[in-house]
Amino acid sequence: MHEIRAKSILSPRGGINVYRGCTHGCVYCDSRSACYQMDHAFEDVAVKVNAPELLEDALRRRRRRCMVGTGSMCDPYLPLERETRLTRRCLEVIERQGFGVSVLTKSDLVLRDLDLLKRINQTAKAVVCTTFTFDEDLCRVLEPGVCTTRRRFEMLKACREAGIAACVWLCPILPFLNDTEENLRGVLGYCFDAGAEAMSTSAWASRCGRGTGSTFTPSWTGTSPA
Ligand code: SF4
Repeated sequence: MHEIRAKSILSPRGGINVYRGCTHGCVYCDSRSACYQMDHAFEDVAVKVNAPELLEDALRRRRRRCMVGTGSMCDPYLPLERETRLTRRCLEVIERQGFGVSVLTKSDLVLRDLDLLKRINQTAKAVVCTTFTFDEDLCRVLEPGVCTTRRRFEMLKACREAGIAACVWLCPILPFLNDTEENLRGVLGYCFDAGAEAMSTSAWASRCGRGTGSTFTPSWTGTSPA
């Protein structure tokens, strides 16, 4: 990892990424695409050390309240978040400024911040969203750096018990890998048992180009991503 000072943090649509890059190692990851013009190795995560200050300033100037979303380009609960606590500090800002938050994560570290999410949920709204591959063995291959499917199910359940909306993003559905009836029924069963309130999906983008088109296949066949 390396530290940087970002120039801005809040996108016009209310999205934030306190990290740039990711260490979860999902073999289908689209965020490592060359189209995002990352100037460092994807796994050498850039830590935006001034993210909380930038966010405080941006939310203060925002005229209308909205949901702040995080988790679209990297996971806000990477292992290094245990030390940096940047995501937590941004949640504190969001609470202070009276905004809502939507967190997309594949890590149970989000449960560390359940106290904050509960408070945000009381005044605005908090949503926690994750993804599932029902088959644990397949999950270990496709998403080697994230907590198990079972643990993510428990994570959603804990959120629901705390009164926080839990959602599942059924993505990516990979042809011949996790598009089986058994996997889809298994995911639906997890959603039902966890009390998930919503489920969505979208098309998976397999981009071609430097550092991208070759990401999926070599990883799947056991060699390192390009
Ligand atoms: S968690 Fe998201 S950003 Fe990180 S490797 Fe997986 S797909 Fe990519």
